[in-house]
Amino acid sequence: MSQHAYTGRPRKRLFVVLIMASYILMAFIAWAVWRVSYLGLLEISSYLPAILGVIFTVLIFLTGFGILSMIGAAMGLPVLHVFQRQTYALINLLFPVAVAIGKIFGIKRRRIEGSFIAVSNRIIQNHGIKVPADRLLMVTPHCLQLATCPHKITRDPYNCHRCRGCNVGDLVALAEETGCHFFVVTGGTLARQTVKKIRPQAVLAIACERDLASGIQDVYPIPAAGVLNMRPNGPCYNTRVDMELVRKTVKEMIIPGTEKPRQPRFMNGKPVPRKDHDDKEE
Ligand code: SF4
Repeated sequence: MSQHAYTGRPRKRLFVVLIMASYILMAFIAWAVWRVSYLGLLEISSYLPAILGVIFTVLIFLTGFGILSMIGAAMGLPVLHVFQRQTYALINLLFPVAVAIGKIFGIKRRRIEGSFIAVSNRIIQNHGIKVPADRLLMVTPHCLQLATCPHKITRDPYNCHRCRGCNVGDLVALAEETGCHFFVVTGGTLARQTVKKIRPQAVLAIACERDLASGIQDVYPIPAAGVLNMRPNGPCYNTRVDMELVRKTVKEMIIPGTEKPRQPRFMNGKPVPRKDHDDKEE
């Protein structure tokens, strides 16, 4: 499995640095709270400052350990199975703090989101998450469809005639080949509804940095890998995706042997005669 199989772009360092900065800030705030409340707590009971001190120390220690696991996972080091969930939970929990700290230093949100996606992908990859083909949901926004395409694909992506005008046809082909679920959604609400309906064990989302970062957070604790789209025509218009990367990611997320190929409805812009129908005629 290549190191950057999900995004193709190694940009993990920024998010790791921001998470470490978040941790130092949190530890400082915890110390300041303890220090300020010390005399007041002492008046109530002589044990209270020590109890609060121990609670804060344990929390800071556990968070620090989780961050170390996250950095290890992001670097490709093995993470103990018991800490896998916590590591993934921690990056999702600390993402908003990292964005807030990045803002103070004038770092663009998009860069932080991109870095967060790279770290998240690496952690998922490190965990070796694999699911049956029919429990994987592949989802992409509507802007991937060619703007002039007359076919309605948001209700049923298999209405795509696979004319090769855009990558939707390639994704439909991949879904038909593997048997994973595939949906084209018009926004975050529809994406969330789709996840609720399908109840996947893992998600592969194709979108821009902003939508991927919020999508990964939205579907947590379901593991979601993200593949960034390409925007040769500007944002949200006739976007493209690296199909080689998508195919590779799908194959990595599916348990081998669980694929359930479906018969294509259209190919090269034309309807494909139904096989069962042909069989009956013979
Ligand atoms: S591949 Fe062709 S038919 Fe399918 S969505 Fe794109 S333009 Fe439309």
